[in-house]
Amino acid sequence: MMLDERVKIVPLFSGSSGNCVFLRFGRARILIDVGRSAKQIAGALEQIGEDPARVDGILITHDHSDHLSGLDVFVRKFGLHVYASRETWRGIHLFETKPHAEELDHVIEPWQNFSIGEVEITPFPTPHDAKGSLGYRLSALGKTVSVATDLGHFSEDVRRAVTGSEAVLIEANYNYDMLINGPYPWPLKRRVGGDKGHLCNRDCAEAIRYLYENGTRHFILGHLSQENNSPTVARNEITEYLTQYDLIAGEHFSMTVANRYCPTEPLVLEVAECFDYEDTPLADLIDVTVALPIERIDFQDSPSGLFGQELRGFGEAT
Ligand SMILES: [Zn+2]
Ligand SMILES: [Zn+2]
Repeated sequence: MMLDERVKIVPLFSGSSGNCVFLRFGRARILIDVGRSAKQIAGALEQIGEDPARVDGILITHDHSDHLSGLDVFVRKFGLHVYASRETWRGIHLFETKPHAEELDHVIEPWQNFSIGEVEITPFPTPHDAKGSLGYRLSALGKTVSVATDLGHFSEDVRRAVTGSEAVLIEANYNYDMLINGPYPWPLKRRVGGDKGHLCNRDCAEAIRYLYENGTRHFILGHLSQENNSPTVARNEITEYLTQYDLIAGEHFSMTVANRYCPTEPLVLEVAECFDYEDTPLADLIDVTVALPIERIDFQDSPSGLFGQELRGFGEAT
C-alpha cells in the first residue's frame, strides 16, 4: 500500500473527561495523551480507520488524570513508545499497576527536539499546575502542527513554540462570566482562572489573532469546560472578538471545536511534495530516535506519599 500523502489531525477526546489527539504525518502515527480508557482510545482509533498497534509514539503533556488515565493499559496492550518529561513520569508511575518494557519509556525535556521517524518534535513548557507540563510542536512533510492545551495563559514560551504552525489545537476552556458566576467553589474558580490554570475564550481569541497574523490558518478549539463553556459559547465569543479585527472564521482561517466524547472530523493538510516510500511500520524501517539518552528514573527516593496527595489534589475539575 502506498503512503497516504497527507498530514492529519484528529482529536479523539477533548475536555476534563479525557484528552487524546491523533496525528498522522504520512506513515508516522502519533498520539498526544491517553486520557480515556485503553478500550475507548483503541475503539476511537479503529473508528477513524487506524490500528492502535501501529501508533509510533505517544507524547504525554502532563500528569493530570484526564491526560493519562488509559496510558498504562494501552501501552501494556500495544507495547508503544511513550515520551514525557521527568516530572510527568513520576505521575505516570503513580498511576501504573504493572510496569511495561523499560525501553519504551523516553524522558524528554523542554526545547530538546527529538524525532519519531521523520517527524521532528519540539516539546515546550506550558503554564499549568502540573510540574513539567508540556505542549508539542510537530513538523514533517513540510507541515508544522502544534498542540497547546492546559494553559493558564498564553505565555511567551507557548507563543514562541507555536508561532508559525500551519494548524494549532489550542485550549478554549472557559467563558469568564460563566466561571465567575458558576457553581464552582471559590478556590477552584481561582485555580482554573489562575496563571497556571486554563485558558479562557477571550485569551484564546487573542492568541488566535496573533497566530493568524503570523501565518496559522487552521485552529481547533479544545479542552472546553463542561460547566463553564460550551461549543456555541466558545465559538461565538471567539468569532465576535476576531470579527472586530476583520478576521472571519471560514473565510480567512478554519476554526472547529474538538468533540468531548468522540472523534472530531479530521483536519487534513495536503502535502505538496510527493514522498516515495511504502507505508511500512516505522519501527521496521527507521529507529525511533530521541535526542536525549533513554533512561529510567529511580523513583525509590521520591516522596510518593506526599506526591500522591498533591496529585489527587490537582486532579482536573474543569
Ligand atoms: Zn487537562
Ligand atoms: Zn491539567
